Amino acid sequence: MMIFSIVSAELFVPDGVSEVEALARTTHLGIGAHQDDLEIMALEGILACFGQPEKWFTGVVVTDGGGSPRDSLYARYNDEEMKAVRRREQKKAAYVGEYGAVAFLDFPSSTVKDPNNSAPQNDLQMLIAAAQPEVVYIHNLADKHPTHIGTAMQTIRALRALPKVQRPKRLVGCEVWRDLDWMLDTDKVVFQLDEHENIALSLVGIFDSQIVGGKRYDLATMGRRRAHATYHASHSVDAAQMINFGMDLTPLLTDDTLDVSAYVLGHIDRFAQAVRDNLKPW
Ligand SMILES: [Zn+2]
Repeated sequence: MMIFSIVSAELFVPDGVSEVEALARTTHLGIGAHQDDLEIMALEGILACFGQPEKWFTGVVVTDGGGSPRDSLYARYNDEEMKAVRRREQKKAAYVGEYGAVAFLDFPSSTVKDPNNSAPQNDLQMLIAAAQPEVVYIHNLADKHPTHIGTAMQTIRALRALPKVQRPKRLVGCEVWRDLDWMLDTDKVVFQLDEHENIALSLVGIFDSQIVGGKRYDLATMGRRRAHATYHASHSVDAAQMINFGMDLTPLLTDDTLDVSAYVLGHIDRFAQAVRDNLKPW
């Protein structure tokens, strides 16, 4: 049985197999800061495993969701009640998306954002070592939400602390609180998300406590995918109807000396150069 840093942490296995078995069968792992992030950012992994007996998506939610905004039906909920609601919503998503497991690490955001606190890194390292997934989805490192950055950096540290044989073949940074359409097309990882659009819509719609106040994350997430598919290539008929973009972070795992910040800023430099080149003749 997994022993996590926080007492209230939980490994939820929808189909009831043992924790060891649930983690060991993982092929695709998504690590997000909040309840609902995985469904927005890691749909490629969820769909790759949906209805596939040999492939399993495992989700990790790093924070407790206690500080989340609340409105309408939830306006009078205190932090503890809100945490319970958000955990229940994430479990509903795990059923609908047929996840192999969801780990709730239950850290306060302040812990996750603290570069000197390695407790989240330690829990993540234990989970990744048990799961040894082929692909890992994390927040992209140009995201504007500090807790997303903290979650992604705690994960990168956890991955780099593992021996190379235990690391995934692919690590991708995904879109939530900032799109990645600004990247050069040659830098983009393209997630084709046309299959099971009904399931995708359900997955983002389940998180009622986040949507009810008027923040239509469900519509916005589906709209972003549709917009990306339409505007990705200007010349041809759309090959895909639904797309998310990712930043390939795998080089950070194959080369431990690669500076994280310099690697990410390289993408911005190439974007800036492309804008400069377009304007130069004028
Ligand atoms: Zn989030």
